[in-house]
Amino acid sequence: MNTHAHRPHSERLYQEALQHIVGGVNSPSRSFKAVGGGAPVFMKKASGAHFWDVDDNRYIDYLAAYGPIITGHAHPHITEAIAKAAANGTLYGTPTTLEIQLAKMLKEAIPSMDKVRFVNSGTEAVMTTIRVARAYTKRNKIIKFAGCYHGHSDLVLVAAGSGPSTLGIPDSAGIPTSIAHEVITVPFNDADSLKAALDKWGSEVAAVMVEPIVGNFGMVMPKPGFLEDLCRLAREYGALVIYDEVITAFRFHYGSAQTFAGLSNHEAIKPDLTALGKIIGGGLPIGAYGGSKEVMEQVAPLGPAYQAGTMAGNPASISAGIACLEVLQGEGVYDEMNRLATRLTEGLASSAAQYGVPLTINQIRGSFSAHFCNHPVTNYDEAQDTDGEAFAAFFRHMLDQGINLAPSKYEAWFLTTAHTDEDIDLTLTAAHEAFKRMGSG
Ligand code: PMP
Repeated sequence: MNTHAHRPHSERLYQEALQHIVGGVNSPSRSFKAVGGGAPVFMKKASGAHFWDVDDNRYIDYLAAYGPIITGHAHPHITEAIAKAAANGTLYGTPTTLEIQLAKMLKEAIPSMDKVRFVNSGTEAVMTTIRVARAYTKRNKIIKFAGCYHGHSDLVLVAAGSGPSTLGIPDSAGIPTSIAHEVITVPFNDADSLKAALDKWGSEVAAVMVEPIVGNFGMVMPKPGFLEDLCRLAREYGALVIYDEVITAFRFHYGSAQTFAGLSNHEAIKPDLTALGKIIGGGLPIGAYGGSKEVMEQVAPLGPAYQAGTMAGNPASISAGIACLEVLQGEGVYDEMNRLATRLTEGLASSAAQYGVPLTINQIRGSFSAHFCNHPVTNYDEAQDTDGEAFAAFFRHMLDQGINLAPSKYEAWFLTTAHTDEDIDLTLTAAHEAFKRMGSG
């Protein structure tokens, strides 16, 4: 049943793209390098939970553009908002009332933010929170967690040294070792390592930065007490806490991880600064950061930490963001995504078991990760210790049957408000076939 295996136009366009665009893609995560190479699928249209490629194959989409498309593609409420914004002029370089409206919506949903600033991407948001934390604390180092991705600015593209007491090494060419030496990387869900790092470097640490629920080596919940320990330890040493909620904000409920019912003790896990992106722009470029009034007053024009942006707060992105959040305020939308995700994960687990394919599923409401292994995945080491070849085989079997997943074993599956039971049925039929081909049964 390889109904979608024939993709000659994608093959041809990929060869053409390679002539003009570095690697043929505008973000490395779109290449098929991690799943054995070859041409990625060139899509020409998207609507609801579906994609159509340039060879006219239809796909059910679980990539959701790596997260932002939580209402499905081309949601009418969002496309109308964008069209209206475009008709009124796409960029002013002056303040608008729209920005106030979205800022208020974000503050209401994420009460740790007294003040907000809009930027253009998650990368910018995170990069600026670090600058603000450094300005506020007058310290330079940051602590981050292995496997958490925070965008592509220099400071956060740094890998672990050989333990909590060593400084980082650059993860990319072009990042000076002197910058990597400002970063310490420790394992997620390991408060003892964090304490060891703070014992050694505490007086120099400006901030501890974390994805409070991880979305970048699968979906991984913090162990009970981990975020409480993280916040307590950071404060003990005079460091700020930065939550990177670029994936998690508005993902599991109308709010963010720091106010998610799945994590208790919200007062004890409150961050000083939060970085946002993805969903809050409804599919257009956006980022935002916010925090307590005192910390945010470091930012220009009030304070000495400079951050600016020609495109920041542009009416199209802000209008799309407002419209997206309005859709997410709808009755029961998150429960429905959770219901469909649960049907999907139960079906995947049962087919995998039937054919003897080891699979660990981490589901958090309407999103989940499926790891080809038979151990739990609670940190990056465990996520790495999974069968990449099995994932690549599964990915290709699914793609060839019209199911679009991210081409990486570390990425999540995202349900949207547009998925239906019929989509889930078709996906489970394809998955059953994929596991059958892979397994022993
Ligand atoms: N932080 C997290 C947690 C992310 O997942 C990402 C993107 N995947 C970023 C930051 C960077 O966001 P952007 O790609 O919009 O720059």
